[in-house]
Amino acid sequence: VLGVEKTTSNIKANTHIAIDGDEGKVYVSPDSHTIEEKAEKIEHINEAKAVFIRELDLPAVTTDGHEIKIASNIELPDEVKLMQKYNSQGIGLFRTELLYMAGKEFPQEDLQTMIYSKVIRQCRGEQVIIRTFDIGGDKFSDSFEHHLEPNPFLGWRAIRIGIDYPHLLNTLIIAILLSVAVGPCSIMFPMVSSITDIQFAKSIVDQAITELQNENAVFDPNVPVGIMIEVPAAAIIADRIAPYVDFMSIGTNDLIQYTMAADRGNEKVAKWYRTYHPAHLELIKRTIDAGHLHGIWVGMCGGMASKLLAIPFLIGLGIDELSVNPSQIPLVKAIVRRVSFTDARTIAEKSMLLPTHEQVEDYLRHEAERLLPETALNFI
Ligand code: PEP
Ligand code: MG
Repeated sequence: VLGVEKTTSNIKANTHIAIDGDEGKVYVSPDSHTIEEKAEKIEHINEAKAVFIRELDLPAVTTDGHEIKIASNIELPDEVKLMQKYNSQGIGLFRTELLYMAGKEFPQEDLQTMIYSKVIRQCRGEQVIIRTFDIGGDKFSDSFEHHLEPNPFLGWRAIRIGIDYPHLLNTLIIAILLSVAVGPCSIMFPMVSSITDIQFAKSIVDQAITELQNENAVFDPNVPVGIMIEVPAAAIIADRIAPYVDFMSIGTNDLIQYTMAADRGNEKVAKWYRTYHPAHLELIKRTIDAGHLHGIWVGMCGGMASKLLAIPFLIGLGIDELSVNPSQIPLVKAIVRRVSFTDARTIAEKSMLLPTHEQVEDYLRHEAERLLPETALNFI
């Protein structure tokens, strides 16, 4: 729930609150009626989910055999337990910035190596994609001098901080490289907007590899390097970017805000923040097509990847991986298992022809109602 003004200053410690993420509401000191209503809602959701949880051991394939990888987005190492519970196929996005935001000091290399190695080991051979820190925008760190910026989301954020302070990225990359020894792991860079950014990122990786080789460290230098596609500039030139990377993962949370010029955390412009806007859909299609043209896989780790209406559309565009919050895996898998690739392709093609986001959303809802069982529709 974002954009609830003055929440942190108005709500005192030890106050009871209820949060309804579907409604986007926070209830402060909820009355008994609200508590009862929310408890019923939780029960209702859990009942519907129970149906899908039974399918967790089954593969994430469409009815006609097209496979989609379903991975997890995590921020804390403890979340690995939850993803295991839901049979996640590894981690599609490990947000490292919390480590940087937790203390007054930057996390040292050995602490980072310990954390990443533990997570990778727990993933037992499944791919773990570690994203380099995305500090800035709405994520601040005490361990970091931060300038007040008039437009933080258009400002000094993520890889841009790494470009100005390469030693910070170097520590993180060395920690990742040393952790690769325990299992498969990839590096992902956020907020990339040009090939120049990618060349910088890769030079940091190459430099870290050389340093470790000089120290005779045990590690695999062939670690895949990918980027997030979350800046429209990168999506538009995805065909030129793809040859430089091993994979691309679409970050719709940011891609929408930058495409629509609507701050993702500002309630006042929430109605301009449109997942199904044709411009956003074009950028997604462009990215997937570009990746496939150059023989690399394309995933999605933004919130759109777990939207019931969006999943058949994304499958139809050819998305290879959906990375979602672990608790959403049962629903995402259930949807994948209930559509055919043939239907999904038609859905994607038809959606791409519609001129407004309302028409896309109405059409996708209509298709979801036609294709999916009632239990799934509770989650629209
Ligand atoms: C995104 O932008 O979609 C994303 C997954 O990254 P974050 O939400 O951390 O910015
Ligand atoms: Mg992002």
